[in-house]
Amino acid sequence: MNRKILLVEPNYKNKFPPVALMKLSTYYKSKGDCVVFYKGDIKAFIINQITEQCIEKLNSVQPDYDWKIKHDVIFNYIHTRKSMYIEALNLDTFECAQILTNWVKYYKDYYWKKTYEKEPEWDRICVTTLFTFYFDITVRTINELKPLAKSTKDIMVGGVLATLQSEEIEKATGIVPHKGLLITPGELDEGDTQIIDQLPLDYTILEETDYKYDMSNAYYAYLTRGCIRHCSFCAVSKLEPHYQDYIPLQDRIKEVEEICGPQKNLLLMDNNVLASKAFDKIIEEIIACGFQAGATYTEPDLLKLSIDNLIKGRNDRGYIRKTQRLMCDYLQSIKDKELSYKVYCAMENNHVLKYETSTKKALLQAYSEFKEDYENRNVPFKRPRQRTVDFNQGVDARLFTPHIAKQLSRIAISPLRIAFDSMSVKEPYLNAIRMCASNGLRNFSNYLLYNFKDEPIDLYRRMRINVELCEDLNVNIYSFPMKYHPLYGEHSHDRNYIGVHWNKKYIRAVQAVLNSTKGMIGRGVSYFYKAFGNTEEEFYTLLEMPDTYIIYRFFFEWLDTKDHPLSMCKWREAISELNAEEQSLLFSIIHAENFTQPDSSADYGERVNYALSFYKNYRDDISESDGSLYSLKKEFDSIPKAELNYIKTSGNGIIVRHNGFQITNKKS
Ligand code: SF4
Repeated sequence: MNRKILLVEPNYKNKFPPVALMKLSTYYKSKGDCVVFYKGDIKAFIINQITEQCIEKLNSVQPDYDWKIKHDVIFNYIHTRKSMYIEALNLDTFECAQILTNWVKYYKDYYWKKTYEKEPEWDRICVTTLFTFYFDITVRTINELKPLAKSTKDIMVGGVLATLQSEEIEKATGIVPHKGLLITPGELDEGDTQIIDQLPLDYTILEETDYKYDMSNAYYAYLTRGCIRHCSFCAVSKLEPHYQDYIPLQDRIKEVEEICGPQKNLLLMDNNVLASKAFDKIIEEIIACGFQAGATYTEPDLLKLSIDNLIKGRNDRGYIRKTQRLMCDYLQSIKDKELSYKVYCAMENNHVLKYETSTKKALLQAYSEFKEDYENRNVPFKRPRQRTVDFNQGVDARLFTPHIAKQLSRIAISPLRIAFDSMSVKEPYLNAIRMCASNGLRNFSNYLLYNFKDEPIDLYRRMRINVELCEDLNVNIYSFPMKYHPLYGEHSHDRNYIGVHWNKKYIRAVQAVLNSTKGMIGRGVSYFYKAFGNTEEEFYTLLEMPDTYIIYRFFFEWLDTKDHPLSMCKWREAISELNAEEQSLLFSIIHAENFTQPDSSADYGERVNYALSFYKNYRDDISESDGSLYSLKKEFDSIPKAELNYIKTSGNGIIVRHNGFQITNKKS
């Protein structure tokens, strides 16, 4: 059909590639369409497209010059309109200088006067969507893309957000989103019989972007769809309402391997694979795909693979970028000076030292100039690496049986993510971990949902269970506390929702500790006790602690040794000496949603004012050279860590009277 199809993922951060767009790419390419994938700033995309058109025009006017090497200068001129860029093109040195100048100015105006909106080039634009809290950036992207489509009815918006909040999306963009999965034949083109959701993924589109997905070098797949449960915090029942027991995997893996080479890991996005009646078949298929326990992976020759794909014309846009990057990597790796110079010259002479100036022809030419050296190089021995299987959405602890644990131990699963969303699943969770450990599984992980209907202490208990299980069973469990965000209504478009038993202060306290652990709790009971408290009471003390004191905990504890008025001990005393009414007042102030710093003009009485003074943000006093705590912090930083050990064992308790806790202040 040869339509022009643009696939877009809005420029938000995400770990996983846009699987739906990868399937759409396969679909449209099977129809003979020209497919482009983009993730990034839409304005930059538009300017880049216009720059490419300008280069094409200049090549037709003055074909004996490679205008591609001027890509950056032309881009900057169109972007900024600054004369220094058009001067840098040295157009005067060409015979038809005036014509060239006119064309460059034409394309500059083409952008600034938005002429491109009158001549839209895309037959279809497909936009994927994700979390509801990315609503604003998603809506902005859709609205920026609208003028680029020949007709707004040819803009297709799908994915998680589009399904959950289709009315809101329609209201904000005028586009009626596609809800749910693409499982009905003919949804995109009348009469077509393919089921898009079951098509293989086109991995090559990922080469078209500089954005690096955390979870790369993996096969991505679903072996089941949907879930048998309807947890109220989860979107799966809306997104995938029907549970599907089994989706074949092996052929899809083979297809990817043929084009992109073998991938190291297998990332399975099933929501509840243990509910499948075909679970045993699924395990056998995973093994047949090369992911049995202990399976290893040796990286293929990526540059050669990339060159092959360029020759075969498989996604030139992606493989020009990838080949250029791999060539640069090769150049950097060469130790031999003579060879390094040779490869450098081949790249320089063909203008492929930069992606922006690289063309397919030039890359193939450059490669041919050092191909023999490359193919005969001494490839350093690379130790095969362990392959892993990851059911990245977690498995359901309630469905574990000894047989399931045994089956999981037969595949290269690591980590095994077992959902531990609340204390209500504590017993099944403990049983599941024990069954797996007794079958030899050692690496576990889970997301710990908090800020939903849970009490803060529920999070502490689950984290504590995990660190203690690590010791008891000699296993590794990495816990990732994950804050609940509502799917609908107020705060579904931002990340400011506060659960019924939580407040902003508590959320900040948990996040401040997690920031120092990169969001993860791993092995180490003593570290955990120090970070979150030895007891549940100490955990509540931590939640009430001033933010600066949490972030610079050791420093403020060290100030105890100086009897400093801002020391940790002084804060504890200040809180402990308040009576119940005063404490209640203090906590109501610091728990308030808009509390950032104490209001110096407010008077709550001498003792509350004094306690509140610890909640000032002391970060600048610590980090600015003229700050009141700066030199003390420098002195603290110069102390060898071993000498600070005694601080790590000091107590954390305060006397909190308002909610029934009576904890002895161990320092007093
Ligand atoms: S079991 Fe997991 S996937 Fe299923 S509804 Fe509950 S949270 Fe969602």
